[in-house]
Amino acid sequence: MAYKAPRGTFDILPEDWPYWNFVISKARELSALYGYEEIETPIFESTNLFVRGVGEGTDIVEKEMYSFQDKGKADLTLRPEFTAGVMRAYVEHGMHTRPQPVKLFSLGPLFRYERPQAGRFREFHQFNVEAIGSQDPALDFEVMSLAWQFLEELGFRGLSFQVNSTGCPECRPKYVEALKEYYYAHYDEICEDDKRRLGRNPLRVLDCKNPQCQPIIAGAPKIADFLCDECAAHFATLRRYLDAAGRRYTVNHRLVRGLDYYTKTVFEVWAEGIGAQNAVCGGGRYDGLIEEIGGPPTPGVGFAVGLERVISTLRSQGVKVPEPPPPEVFVAALGKKARDKAVPLANELRQHHVPTLLSFGKRGLKGQLRNANRAGARFALILGDDEVAAGVVTIRDMESGKQEQVKQKEIFAWLEARAQPARGR
Ligand code: ATP
Ligand code: MG
Repeated sequence: MAYKAPRGTFDILPEDWPYWNFVISKARELSALYGYEEIETPIFESTNLFVRGVGEGTDIVEKEMYSFQDKGKADLTLRPEFTAGVMRAYVEHGMHTRPQPVKLFSLGPLFRYERPQAGRFREFHQFNVEAIGSQDPALDFEVMSLAWQFLEELGFRGLSFQVNSTGCPECRPKYVEALKEYYYAHYDEICEDDKRRLGRNPLRVLDCKNPQCQPIIAGAPKIADFLCDECAAHFATLRRYLDAAGRRYTVNHRLVRGLDYYTKTVFEVWAEGIGAQNAVCGGGRYDGLIEEIGGPPTPGVGFAVGLERVISTLRSQGVKVPEPPPPEVFVAALGKKARDKAVPLANELRQHHVPTLLSFGKRGLKGQLRNANRAGARFALILGDDEVAAGVVTIRDMESGKQEQVKQKEIFAWLEARAQPARGR
């Protein structure tokens, strides 16, 4: 074949859509339940927004961005994540004048130049949630609850949170110093990547997947021991809310976001069968981010769920999703005269909102009925020369195979009388 979808991308085929629709409508339903409103931002933004908003020294900015210059020489990047664009929109539209917090969600594609593998693509999709304008740990708890309920109602089992606090500009630098000191004492034992990270983005050594670094990580100082009073109180309150709600969680000292403007809460949701290597959901608080991209100091907290990972888990766990309703009617025609009647008949049925398929081309009756059957149609409306001459149609109940003749004028009344709630819902 001449062309293929680019590496790391894929088509969402008709048979995939029941899963996508299920997940997307659940995202919209629960967003409404929690009082989050939809926002759509452009798929590309100024490259600088992501360099500042995601941060130099992150994998995303260092090696994963699809950046380009357009014909007007503007430096643009396909969005690798939602948060920076949503924050840009918050600032640009002066949303700080609205009642706070402003609670927003988005659904759509993201782009990262990564090595494609299971659950890792170059174009992927997220359900992204942001709550902007409040420091209250109840808001951290709210977004975490939304993420949890979303996954739970999709059918995920064995959910648990991994949580940590990454402190704030007040307390984190002391921790970073202690961490560096410890790591430099073990310099000969750590991987080359970590040596690089120590210079640029020290917190990220805690995230290292290299086996040789695991014992070093295990013995490293913990940020929990360095939190200032405010950060410690925030974290304690959040945990109290989680306890009261009976949410399973583990305080994971390795969980960090290696950026200056991520603050306090960070979390992931793990589920049965997927864990550390393949988190479905990650989030946290970023009280310094809006200021970083040129807005007024404004706190925020949010999360993103990867939809491909959610859907592949639903599939592998055999979760049943709603199928679209089958057509009510399949119009079959034999011969030119009958066709000339069938085409307007199908059209009229659709004007009356009867879900209708029409047979195309020249096929025998058997072939047309086979198609009606495959489509799951409830009734086949059959038109041949005899029916045309007599001004009737033959209606075949596809399930029982029973047939009867109905006057063309009476088709709607006949169907109406047998109308039933669409099957398969
Ligand atoms: P990972 O550690 O797996 O690279 P991440 O920390 O880069 O994840 P985030 O930026 O927090 O991920 O994005 C949130 C979610 O988006 C992830 O939990 C995951 O479900 C999904 N995700 C991230 N990158 C990809 C990708 N390349 N392909 C598919 N899903 C992805
Ligand atoms: Mg990543």
